[in-house]
Amino acid sequence: MSEGQTGNPSAVARADALRARFEALPAGAGSPGPVRLVRAPGRVNLIGEHTDYNQGLVLPAAIDREIWIAFRPWDRPEVELTSAEFGDTRSFSLEGLSPETRGAKSWIDYVAATAWAMREAGLGVRGFRGVMDSTIPIGSGLSSSAALEMASTWALAVPRAPRPEAGAMAAIAQRGENHYVGVNCGIMDQFASAAGRAGHALLIDCRTNQFKTAPMPAGLSLVVCETGSSRRLEVSAYNTRRSECELGVKLIAEREPGVRSLRDVDEAMLDRNRDRLPEVVARRCEHIVLEDARVMDTVAALRDGDLAALGRLFAASHASLRDLYEVSSPELDAMVDIAVAVPGVVASRMTGAGFGGCTVNLVERGAEGALRDAVLAKYQNRTGLKPRVYIVAAVDGAGELQLPA
Ligand code: ADP
Ligand code: MG
Repeated sequence: MSEGQTGNPSAVARADALRARFEALPAGAGSPGPVRLVRAPGRVNLIGEHTDYNQGLVLPAAIDREIWIAFRPWDRPEVELTSAEFGDTRSFSLEGLSPETRGAKSWIDYVAATAWAMREAGLGVRGFRGVMDSTIPIGSGLSSSAALEMASTWALAVPRAPRPEAGAMAAIAQRGENHYVGVNCGIMDQFASAAGRAGHALLIDCRTNQFKTAPMPAGLSLVVCETGSSRRLEVSAYNTRRSECELGVKLIAEREPGVRSLRDVDEAMLDRNRDRLPEVVARRCEHIVLEDARVMDTVAALRDGDLAALGRLFAASHASLRDLYEVSSPELDAMVDIAVAVPGVVASRMTGAGFGGCTVNLVERGAEGALRDAVLAKYQNRTGLKPRVYIVAAVDGAGELQLPA
């Protein structure tokens, strides 16, 4: 929860522009009451990839790329929302929402899904009319969808009603995305957007839904490099990886009572059960088991400011995702390759589900420009694709903004 950025001039300018945009719409003009503002950040995962749906550990940070909604509560059980990005207005009724009866697929489904899941969880929701803008690139793996959901939880919530804590709210939004939108995502994205803390990463335990904050070392910047490559294979490969992990758990559990997820498996247990596992399943399991350990090691390295260890851990994670889990791509590999050759780049790896999207980089303060220059100079030559480089900061999680009216 956050009332962050109060007094930040760029936040005030953004709020003024969004409010003005809302007032100019038929929905905004002439209705009484102050315009309210809610925000939710995207996220980048530092390490712990594909571990969330294996009840493992992840280490994302909420970043200063955000979706904002300016809105007024509506006295009807309806939502009407304009996406400034798409120049598109959509609406839906809060009554009779159900995954079975939802209409044509549209971006508003993420809002309707959140309303449906909040209702299912016994939370009150109420209608609003509003407009949203976004600085999160869509479909790049920085979780614009989770940000849209978490911003929606704030706009839909009944005022002064008790609000579940961030992890529980994230689970509700995840359920909406899983069952209503039909995307089989884990809980990390919503959790990071809900619970982020400025200047910190979040160590989330996806078995208990508990989290701890981990401070980012003062001398390091977070840089995200977007490969511009399609995530076309992502959905089918993601679902295959999930079932391979489930098969691994099932086969190991036949001999090891008490194993319910790969979280319950350590390296020694995996080794003594390798003979039971198809070779490809063994490799998937090995990635998950070792990746969980790398998350804990990264938290320690961040705490100790051990830059060499951070570099080794990111490199090991990337290699494991490339060779064992097989979700990297030539473009992601090229982006990491270019980054690690730049002086001042401490650590670089693919982030997100894979097959495209972004890399995450820890960079000594002052070296961000050198990384950007190297990527802009070399990446397009190597891949034919246009990269984007975002220097980001870890920010607070979703909440209502309290800015001067
Ligand atoms: P990611 O979460 O990695 O950005 P997804 O494919 O999961 O990519 O989610 C992207 C979808 O979220 C978009 O196709 C759209 O439906 C919705 N969305 C995200 N940002 C916006 C926006 N600014 N306006 C409307 N819809 C958005
Ligand atoms: Mg998404």
